[in-house]
Amino acid sequence: MDVHESLLELIGNTPLVRLRTPGAGRTAPVYAKLEYLSAGGSVKDRPGLRMIEEAERSGALRPGGTVVEATSGNTGAGLAMVAAAKGYRTVVVLPDKSSAEKIATLRAYGAEVVVRPGGLPLEDPEHIVNLARRIAEQTPGGWFAQQYDNPANPDAHYRTTGPEIWRQTEGRVTHLVSCVGTGGTISGTGRFLKEASDGAVRVIGADPASSVYSGGDGRPYFVEAAGRFRHPETIDDSWPVSFHREVVDELLPIADRDALLTIRRLAREEGLLVGGSSGTAVTAALRVAAELGPEQLVVVMLPDSGRQYLSKYFNDDWMLRNGFLDGDAAHPLVGDAVPAELRERPLPYLHHRSTVGQALDALRARAAAGADPVLPAGPAPVAPGRQPTALELLGAASLEQLAAALAQGKAAPTDPIADHLTAPLPRFGTGERADAALAELTAAGCDTAVVVHDGHGVGLVGAAELKALLG
Ligand code: PMP
Repeated sequence: MDVHESLLELIGNTPLVRLRTPGAGRTAPVYAKLEYLSAGGSVKDRPGLRMIEEAERSGALRPGGTVVEATSGNTGAGLAMVAAAKGYRTVVVLPDKSSAEKIATLRAYGAEVVVRPGGLPLEDPEHIVNLARRIAEQTPGGWFAQQYDNPANPDAHYRTTGPEIWRQTEGRVTHLVSCVGTGGTISGTGRFLKEASDGAVRVIGADPASSVYSGGDGRPYFVEAAGRFRHPETIDDSWPVSFHREVVDELLPIADRDALLTIRRLAREEGLLVGGSSGTAVTAALRVAAELGPEQLVVVMLPDSGRQYLSKYFNDDWMLRNGFLDGDAAHPLVGDAVPAELRERPLPYLHHRSTVGQALDALRARAAAGADPVLPAGPAPVAPGRQPTALELLGAASLEQLAAALAQGKAAPTDPIADHLTAPLPRFGTGERADAALAELTAAGCDTAVVVHDGHGVGLVGAAELKALLG
């Protein structure tokens, strides 16, 4: 019989499929490793299994125990699947930016899900890693998987992913391209391939553009589960022990917009429905391959399926709102109010560490200049002079509301503005139609919105400007 006794035998052993896009045989062939075909649907099944097996071996996890992890989703699903198959309980702590599909998947496996705000400094006791550690300590039989510092994570890839690629390509692989989250995939797979090839295989990290791994400032980005965010108030940003930097020859920063447009193309042109980090990796792999000849062979890791992101990356409304699509130029568009040459100017906004008094000065200056005295504000402190991403503009302040709070004694000029913010301003992507945006702005009872391009706030637009655009 061609059967399996356990689902756990169906983890890994994923196929390599050639991408057609590079084309024409001029450049090196690029083979994609389809990790979404693993039993639990992602690259994280492998470390999920290995971390649990190692914990069983060491006695850290015993029958009736509880697996606890902090994760943006896939590690949780891998662990929850293995735990369900082996009879353990699972608790997963994840950041609120995780997609609804990922949260629902964890619940479907019977995991208890704790959602906490993402974007906190590492030292904050409410940071998901600190919370997960506490939950594990306080739960009888609790075991904290700790993928960022667990050697079983890269080891899973050293023992499975690397050997699979070497065997599948008959040792002809010359380049490995992978995203870096915990670093487990690239470190374990890369180390194996380097050893097997006497150091010949080049290992390239594909990184979201603002991730600190490739030299970015760590501001938030829209591709989930890859790269490394750094809160400006994080003091000690030690990189994960699971990331062996010495294995990686080069790290390429890839813009969210390029990554997301790439996966939409892969789905439509090749029938490959994959997640955002696959877009980051494929964009990097195509750049690498373009410099190589047909005798070389690139393998790119595609960590998970696009089904987890149908409400985001494959949803035109979401893509438009975040400024990732150009829109239909037959109509006046929101972006026409902030022409490309103006998008490099710093977005007017309030730093959440500023005081009510400073905010009032800024708002009065806007009023004096004839602008709507309203400003978006970033409770996440963005570095001075830096364009905040749309993900950071979590509140707003208006002259009217602050003046009323002062008059009623509810606010003092020395208070941090963070304590007196109202709901965020509406935001519209540059590709959205101006008429629809105006209708939405009016319905929301607002006069001003943030204009977003490639995920970043690039300007403010008033109802009057939208009306002028519409003629
Ligand atoms: N992409 C996705 C979708 C993931 O879930 C992960 C794991 N966090 C990664 C990329 C990065 O993999 P690793 O943690 O092995 O570096």
